[in-house]
Amino acid sequence: MKNVLIIGSGLGGLSTAMRLASKGFKVEILEKTAKAGGRLNKIEKDGFTFDVGPSFFSMSYEFEEFANECNIKLPFEYVELDPLYTVNFSGSTRKFYLYKDIDKLSAQFADIEPDFKDKFERYLKKAGELFHDTVNVVIKQNFDSIPAYLAALVQVNPIHLPVLIKSFWQQACQYFSSSEARQIVSLVAFFLGRTPFDTNAVYTLLSYTEFKHNGYYNVKGGMYKIVEGLVAELEKAGVTFKYNTEITNFTEKNGKLSSVIDQNGKHYTADIFVVNADAAWFRSKILGRKKYSPEKMAKMNWTMGYLTFYLGIDTKLPQVEHHNYFLGNNYETYAKNVMHDPNTLEKPYYYVNVVSKHNTDCAPEGKEALFFVCPVPNLIFKDQWNDRDKIVDSIIDDFSNRIGKDIKPLIISRTVLTPIEWQNEYNLYKGAGLGLSHSMMQIGALRPANFDEKYKNTFYVGASTIPGAGLPMAIISSKLTAERVEKYNNK
Ligand SMILES: Cc1cc2nc3c(=O)[nH]c(=O)nc-3n(C[C@H](O)[C@H](O)[C@H](O)COP(=O)(O)OP(=O)(O)OC[C@H]3O[C@@H](n4cnc5c(N)ncnc54)[C@H](O)[C@@H]3O)c2cc1C
Repeated sequence: MKNVLIIGSGLGGLSTAMRLASKGFKVEILEKTAKAGGRLNKIEKDGFTFDVGPSFFSMSYEFEEFANECNIKLPFEYVELDPLYTVNFSGSTRKFYLYKDIDKLSAQFADIEPDFKDKFERYLKKAGELFHDTVNVVIKQNFDSIPAYLAALVQVNPIHLPVLIKSFWQQACQYFSSSEARQIVSLVAFFLGRTPFDTNAVYTLLSYTEFKHNGYYNVKGGMYKIVEGLVAELEKAGVTFKYNTEITNFTEKNGKLSSVIDQNGKHYTADIFVVNADAAWFRSKILGRKKYSPEKMAKMNWTMGYLTFYLGIDTKLPQVEHHNYFLGNNYETYAKNVMHDPNTLEKPYYYVNVVSKHNTDCAPEGKEALFFVCPVPNLIFKDQWNDRDKIVDSIIDDFSNRIGKDIKPLIISRTVLTPIEWQNEYNLYKGAGLGLSHSMMQIGALRPANFDEKYKNTFYVGASTIPGAGLPMAIISSKLTAERVEKYNNK
């Protein structure tokens, strides 16, 4: 059996390694940072443990299917979230709980949109049709060429064509009349790293995945248990890891990649290479491909950046749920500008995850571990972050006001990551948190392919190749990539 070198140990790299090791390939993983996981990571500091990036996942059945296909038991436990999260509007003490039970959810709209239940059911029915009519045809498929991709698109029920020319926001407005319902329903577009105004309405299928099809899940003991569990399984299967090893160069021979070279000049050879570093960034920065020149990279459509910060506080917060969104009172203006205008940071919207709420090991007794995510322009639109502490302080003040408790004097641990740190730590182009966006011209066969254009022994896995960003997508990506590797190996 051939040996495979995987560059990067994000969830895409780890899950590909597991699939290939289970088929008998000899696998080694090279990772730039000091530990596995990539964006799915943890910070341990001052007695607290924080999830660094992902704080929940959807499509749990993809993880189960992955474990079955690798003949392992899923090496972590997950817990369903209900409510999925809360949404808080500024200037109001009212809090919306996003229950999966539609009656409980709808009751909260009784005074503002009395027919919400009926509308929501119709909205979800359409979202469900979009999901089921596209997932197997478009999302879970390898395409060898653009014509093959277009042929697959033609198979999608033409009834969905009108959706393709609408934005997520327009679709939400078609079904709902109150501004609260429109905002709450369209919030999920932010999970794709763009906004409801520049995300196609086809992604309303996400509302179906969150409310009906499967829901959201947390991992017992924190999200990093996914990585710890997988690394243990990989080590059992004989996969080896080299950390603090950044690939900066390569050699080629006879139309194949023959070695990759690390920051110290050390060469690593293999029969097959799988790149889990960002698929566009690697082609640009390491392989120097013309199609990914600095000018062309700058013109691609990237996701937003994230300002994330991690606070350990010396109190419990019973008034705050596990997952919470705090919105302002100018949703349309905010969402239309947040991708490119740093002025939105004067009144930022943000997400707060009380990590220790269900994972009591993540904070010492009587204390709480908080993780804040604030959508911000990526480094193309804001490259200076000298104002980071001012912005973080203003969010802490806003949060304190809204929950009726000043947490500032109670902070005993504080870590801040701007798009600069996200860029430098994981080689994310311009600190774009989710990599390439999912605009219609950057999905399917129009996204950087999972096979290399020039080297037939080189493949890609992860957020910027197919199918896209998010933990379940990394699992699907690994399946598509492993299929390519096996096909190449069997030739
Ligand atoms: C703030 C934030 C919150 C998120 N929240 C969620 C969420 O709640 N749910 C969800 O499903 N998804 C979420 N996501 C998205 C999710 O984290 C990503 O889509 C997923 O983790 C990407 O995995 P990956 O394997 O593609 O890439 P990565 O995790 O980026 O892994 C790539 C790896 O390659 C390494 N690498 C890069 N260059 C080199 C090199 N030259 N040599 C060696 N190694 C290299 C990197 O260090 C990294 O370890 C979030 C992302 C962010 C940033």
